[in-house]
Amino acid sequence: MANNKTFLKSVNQVFDEAASLLSLPEDLALKIKLANSIYKVNFGVRLRKNLYTFTGYRCVHSEHNEPVKGGIRYSLSSSEGEVEALAALMTYKCSLMDLPFGGSKGALIVDPHNWKHDELERITRRFTNELAKRDLIHPSQNVPGPDMGTDENVMAWMADEYRRLYPTEIDAMASVTGKPIALGGVDGRTEATGRGVFYSILEFLNNDKDRKKSKLRREIEGQRIIIQGFGNVGFHAAELLYESGAKIIAVIERDGSVVNEKGIDVQKLKKHFTRKRTFEGFDGFSTARGHFLSKECDILIPAATEGVIHKDNAAKIKAKLIVEGGNGPVTADADEILRKNGITVIPDFYANSGGVIVSYFEWVKNLSKMRYGLMQERDQEKRQSNLVAALEQMTSNSFPTEMKDEFIKGASEIDLVRSGLEEKMKEGYYAIHETFHSDRKIKSFRMAAMVIAVKKVAEAYKYLGI
Ligand code: NAD
Repeated sequence: MANNKTFLKSVNQVFDEAASLLSLPEDLALKIKLANSIYKVNFGVRLRKNLYTFTGYRCVHSEHNEPVKGGIRYSLSSSEGEVEALAALMTYKCSLMDLPFGGSKGALIVDPHNWKHDELERITRRFTNELAKRDLIHPSQNVPGPDMGTDENVMAWMADEYRRLYPTEIDAMASVTGKPIALGGVDGRTEATGRGVFYSILEFLNNDKDRKKSKLRREIEGQRIIIQGFGNVGFHAAELLYESGAKIIAVIERDGSVVNEKGIDVQKLKKHFTRKRTFEGFDGFSTARGHFLSKECDILIPAATEGVIHKDNAAKIKAKLIVEGGNGPVTADADEILRKNGITVIPDFYANSGGVIVSYFEWVKNLSKMRYGLMQERDQEKRQSNLVAALEQMTSNSFPTEMKDEFIKGASEIDLVRSGLEEKMKEGYYAIHETFHSDRKIKSFRMAAMVIAVKKVAEAYKYLGI
């Protein structure tokens, strides 16, 4: 696996090439590339009769738009370099997808499974205090969300702690996204990144020009898929693909894999994994892991961690398409090898942008203090009911019962969130597709996406008083 310095180097390598393709002045390119600031904190929490010191980071990569946005990761292997690379990716992701945010990212060096629920809550609340002191959590300046090792519980504690610190701040709940619905979250945020990965695959398959190059069939049914990482992103992507008729032939986790050429029952595997936190004991379990990344398949979705496809294993990959569910799974060196071998990579800062897209919806919902669909749902239902009644009267036939409810139903929050997410993923795909096919010097989807993202950030800098 590549180390964290390689991760930052990889992100910057793609940036440098994009800046050169755009002929950006060197001084401006340097300003955009380097993180604005990175904050490191060591704080103590008294737990189990001991004083434990935890190290946390929050990096602000670019404030050309505010608030800056980016997840908080709980992991023992996080580091300053990793957080910086992830924050830079957030800048490019938000820019590419036209979201009104700058880029940021945070991490706490902790294994969440080593601590009880209430202990993790105390650690999280202390970390939130440290971030709040420096406005590194703030509804109009810096809005964290979930990432690897964090979930809606962690986000709820952070938001609640922020609200306790600033009880008169009317927008306090907009300081964090990825919260549970009961605390101002938006329906569909939990599944959003995996769903976005799924939509990005559909866009690719629906685009004949791109798809034919990869020798993939148009239909999702029967596509043979391998997924690495069965967490938030990996599971939700797997679930949607499975429900659409794709065959998940292998899932790779930290301590082993499950392989089944006939297709894995994703729901059953999820139940097993939730209960046991390991795949061991499930049909088709094998202790091998990395080995299965190079198993022959149609689509490979690395949705765990960075640097898993690198210069030493890239030549062995036999997938036709790689969709980066996680951040940074393919290093810059590996990218080059894959491209030469005719393997297309749908890059992370497009493919996994579903999370921040729906976080954007949540943030807007929190600022507006109103759920999506509230003003339209009944009105829509009445109009559709009237239309059905008129059609029935005019034709003297009754509307097919099995379609009637679905036809009449007004759009709920989840419908609107999914529709908005799908629209954004479509827009993003076509922007990348157009740019990629418009210039022979742009050799990959990743480079096309970076060119679009950097161009927009550079445009914004024209008007900033720097
Ligand atoms: P998660 O903690 O929910 O799940 C990650 C899973 O990957 C875990 O089950 C873990 O055991 C497994 N894993 C870790 N290292 C592994 C390895 N080397 N090999 C195999 N499995 C491994 O995390 P997540 O939220 O699903 O995030 C996964 C990736 O997606 C990260 O790169 C993250 O930055 C990125 N991402 C997440 C979101 C989000 O909304 N959660 C949004 C955008 C990008």
